Amino acid sequence: MSSHHHLVIITGANRGFGASVAHSYVANSGADTVSFVLVGRNQQGLDSVLTSLRKLTSENNVAVKGAIVGDVDLADMERLDNNLVRIQAAVTELRNESIQSKNVISKSVLINNAGSIGDLSKTAKEMTWQETRAYLDFNVVSFVGLTSAFLKDTLGAYPKEQYPGHKTAIVSISSLLAVQPFSNWSLYAAGKAARDRFLGVIALEEKANNVKTLNYAPGPLNNDMQADVRRTLGDKEQLEIYDGMHKSGSLVNMDDSSRKLVLLLKNDEYTTGGHIDFYDE
Ligand code: NDP
Repeated sequence: MSSHHHLVIITGANRGFGASVAHSYVANSGADTVSFVLVGRNQQGLDSVLTSLRKLTSENNVAVKGAIVGDVDLADMERLDNNLVRIQAAVTELRNESIQSKNVISKSVLINNAGSIGDLSKTAKEMTWQETRAYLDFNVVSFVGLTSAFLKDTLGAYPKEQYPGHKTAIVSISSLLAVQPFSNWSLYAAGKAARDRFLGVIALEEKANNVKTLNYAPGPLNNDMQADVRRTLGDKEQLEIYDGMHKSGSLVNMDDSSRKLVLLLKNDEYTTGGHIDFYDE
């Protein structure tokens, strides 16, 4: 029986940092088998990520299994319950498969990666409560919904008495903005701070249940979201900094940052409930 079979759920796994985390997980987690549940809006993108993950199998000596849960718009509150059920069904199927193949899952990981920047052209006084509500629905409310459902389901599937070795990890892809305010980022900063605190509370509540949580700030990444920031940010001073970083090639490479996250999870030495930045140490 393998002792390193990880179940890994990633939201927004079709592109950007989410796809990079999935690839780094195969290469760096130390798992013998990874069962992915890739969640997002874009079915085609998720399919092609899963195909490329499967190609990493022999190179890294890791078995890759996976399920896609596509057409999941985490901003759509009307469909959130239904989507949570669909995600849970995919997880249950992979768990059942792991029992049948006698390769029981030893670690369950949820990576809350999907996110949006909001309207960075505005300062706080220009925000409407309606856009605030829509922003927080996606970036905080659906995050709480998925995290709570995952936790309840996982603890139910692996009771401590029966599975004393099973570990659970919950990650929020966070930001420097969670711990430091900058102009024009009001909703983004508020959302990331709320997520950090939510996982901080879970860390305390579930300490005795082999559950750890981590808020990981990946650094300013060289990707689509940063391009959106450069296009829309209303604050000139910051814009110059981001433009400069882009031009000088000093934005963070996504794979370098996702590798750091996966190694943190693997080595398991981080303080549960804490906030770790790519630039730390
Ligand atoms: P991208 O904009 O490149 O990707 C965002 C991801 O979230 C995509 O997979 C996107 O899917 C998904 N997503 C967006 N809206 C929804 C929705 N309504 N429902 C479901 N999925 C959705 O950003 P990154 O890859 O950079 O962002 C990943 C995380 O990293 C975010 O939480 C972000 O805040 C954080 N981060 C990013 C930094 C950066 O510099 N880029 C810096 C610090 C933190 P789709 O393809 O369907 O749009």
